[in-house]
Amino acid sequence: MQAEIITIGDELLLGQTVDTNSAWMGEELRKKGVSVNRIVSISDRPSEISAALDEALSRVDLVLVTGGLGPTRDDVTKHTLADYFNTDLVLDQDVLDRITAWFEGRKLKMLPSNCDQALLPESCVILPNPRGTAMGMWFDTLREGKDKVVVSMPGVPYEMKGLMEEEVMPRVESKWSLPVRYQKTVLTQGIGESFLSAIVHDWEEGLESRGIGIAYLPAPGQVRIRLSSIGEDADSRVDDAMKELLDQAGEHVVAEDGMSLEEALIAALGRAEASLSTAESCTGGSIAARLTAIPGASAVFEGSIVAYANGIKTHVLGVDAQLIEAHGAVSEEVVRAMAEGVRKAMKTTYALATSGIAGPGGATPTKAVGTIWIALASPKGTHTRCLQLGNHRGRNIARTALECMGWLLRELRSA
Ligand code: AMP
Ligand code: MG
Repeated sequence: MQAEIITIGDELLLGQTVDTNSAWMGEELRKKGVSVNRIVSISDRPSEISAALDEALSRVDLVLVTGGLGPTRDDVTKHTLADYFNTDLVLDQDVLDRITAWFEGRKLKMLPSNCDQALLPESCVILPNPRGTAMGMWFDTLREGKDKVVVSMPGVPYEMKGLMEEEVMPRVESKWSLPVRYQKTVLTQGIGESFLSAIVHDWEEGLESRGIGIAYLPAPGQVRIRLSSIGEDADSRVDDAMKELLDQAGEHVVAEDGMSLEEALIAALGRAEASLSTAESCTGGSIAARLTAIPGASAVFEGSIVAYANGIKTHVLGVDAQLIEAHGAVSEEVVRAMAEGVRKAMKTTYALATSGIAGPGGATPTKAVGTIWIALASPKGTHTRCLQLGNHRGRNIARTALECMGWLLRELRSA
């Protein structure tokens, strides 16, 4: 079964609000075996809304719409839908009672425009929204003899999500018999999608004939790969294909089954009963921030020194000032001493250190922007690596943090 998503709101077109609703709905539909054909964002104009509905209904069985249900004049979706489905707006006493209770519960005065939220199209099924005053609306309609459905939901993401989970998806699942979709994902780090795809080229070619879909979902420094299939034996076919993928590209895989690199690293440190500290110059504590954002990080992560200034590298981490003098702060010698210094100070099994030119300025005649030294100190000794990244400061910081964490994770796996 195929669906389309229409998000309504001038703010989406002006770039003031990012359309996160369709991304979330797309994923939700996909999990339940509904394929999303198309996503469009349109303005709060009745003519645009009607045209978009006409087009979507000519192609698919289910059209999900969000936005334009607020009590203000700029929100026109409800009136447009009533016109479109040739039905009247009638007062729904149940809904009015709900809205009244909603306002009383918050000790807010109710305005006439709030009461108008209880005026709803007569022909639709009202989907109660306990999180706000705009109800969801489910319209059954016929197109060329075929049953089709349009669902309208408020634009506020958390209200839309509540309606999708509690009202819309259960109805979709009982109306259509949906195929079960089985999927698995792995997260790779430190290799671009085109390089990955080249490694697994022949295997990838054969997937389609096995009824398996592959998607590369890249983010800076990481690529998630999703394999999915529907129908009989979908699980064993996807599991087999995943094993083959791991055989060919396993060295680049850092996490499986929706886990993040940070979660995988914390879990691996935990299994190894090992601890970690970081000494971060160019990453400014980014590795520490990423790790401490994960619940349970305290079991393995001891702390970090953001050693940005040379004085901090020497006074707090014990880096020999002469090393900095002789080689510069962005050097193999200094990053090595930083990692060893923090490992000693925090008495951890492992330590990671970073020192680099994050950009966009700061290049020297011998060191280009994006030159970043990283070090990993462990009970077996200290290793260093030099990364040559680009000149985008934010991406350099993110990629360095990921590179460090991926490096330690691989080290733990091979230990
Ligand atoms: P509306 O139902 O049009 O009154 O939308 C209410 C609020 O929800 C707006 O102010 C937006 O900030 C937010 N919103 C609307 N559409 C979307 C969307 N597609 N994605 C994320 N937020 C949205
Ligand atoms: Mg709006």
